[in-house]
Amino acid sequence: MSAGLHRISDLVARGFVEKASATGLEAIVERYALSVTPAMADLINPADPDDPIARQFIPDLRESETRPEELADPIGDGAHSPIEGIVHRYPDRVLLKLLHVCPIYCRFCFRREMVGPGAEQILSPDALNAALDYIRDHSEIWEVILTGGDPLALSPRRLADVLQRLDEIAHVKIVRIHTRVPAVDPSRINAGMIEALKTSKKTLYLALHANHPRELGGAAEGALAKLAEAGIALVSQTVLLRGVNDDFETLAALMRRFVELRVKPYYLHQADLAPGTSHFRVGLEEARALVGELRAKVSGLCQPTFVLDIPGGFGKVPVGPDHLTGAGVLDHKGQPHAYPAPATGKPDF
Ligand SMILES: *Cc1c(COP(=O)(O)O)cnc(C)c1O
Ligand code: SF4
Repeated sequence: MSAGLHRISDLVARGFVEKASATGLEAIVERYALSVTPAMADLINPADPDDPIARQFIPDLRESETRPEELADPIGDGAHSPIEGIVHRYPDRVLLKLLHVCPIYCRFCFRREMVGPGAEQILSPDALNAALDYIRDHSEIWEVILTGGDPLALSPRRLADVLQRLDEIAHVKIVRIHTRVPAVDPSRINAGMIEALKTSKKTLYLALHANHPRELGGAAEGALAKLAEAGIALVSQTVLLRGVNDDFETLAALMRRFVELRVKPYYLHQADLAPGTSHFRVGLEEARALVGELRAKVSGLCQPTFVLDIPGGFGKVPVGPDHLTGAGVLDHKGQPHAYPAPATGKPDF
């Protein structure tokens, strides 16, 4: 097992970047944080210029190009943040951003302007108190989504403290943790972390972010089995990424792998307009065709909802292929079929 990589010189030493690019890449990682966990570094094949793991985590000179449509806060979290650490965009749920740190930094991250070791790292005790007060004062909040950064980068002790304080708020029924840790840093899912999660009296969901089936090898399998055995419901989220998972075989293998590991595919995200990430984005029409092929050929258990978070803070909406059109119900070949309207009531079309 190798050490984590935090500097461009570490990447040069491992053969992941060319020495000639080092100066240009230094400037990039000054703006967008760099860290590659040992588990992911060990998966990268330096001889493969198109390695899908490298593409997600190794900085690229194209990140210096910010396009006019790209936004520092691509999904408009700022406009819906009533108080530090809270984003309240939908009535029954809030994001609680506990920290700005991740064990690994994704080159396409939608919060890339906010995450990294340079930022204010962990929500201060006063800010955490105020955020919990906000949740307590809003009885419509049914679900709290722990995010960041990566909440499983916290120590088990800190995480257990937050979970116990959420236990005291009766109207919160669900605590959801958005994390990449079981895949990218599986050794963090140790006995202490499982104990911390098990202290919660709420129904816990863990939303695992993974984008390529190779991320879900043996160590991830062990970590996910421990989480499932601890009674935590597991769902997935994946970002559709050019050169990583934008082909049918990879996407199908990823979704099947989730299901094999008891992780129910939840969301496939259209990549957000984060700065310097245009080389990752897939056009919406191409994306919809891929999602349609997945629906047509692969088990229903393996179907995530394809969503787009409308730039500017207007919310997530499904943007997958439509099967109900004015011409009737479309089958997987695009052929329309009539479906009779109910005998009573208004006709459908
Ligand atoms: C994505 C998101 C959520 C969670 O949305 P779900 O559709 O419930 O998964 C909640 N709040 C904000 C601000 C979000 O961006
Ligand atoms: S783990 Fe999540 S928050 Fe952290 S860099 Fe990756 S996408 Fe961004």
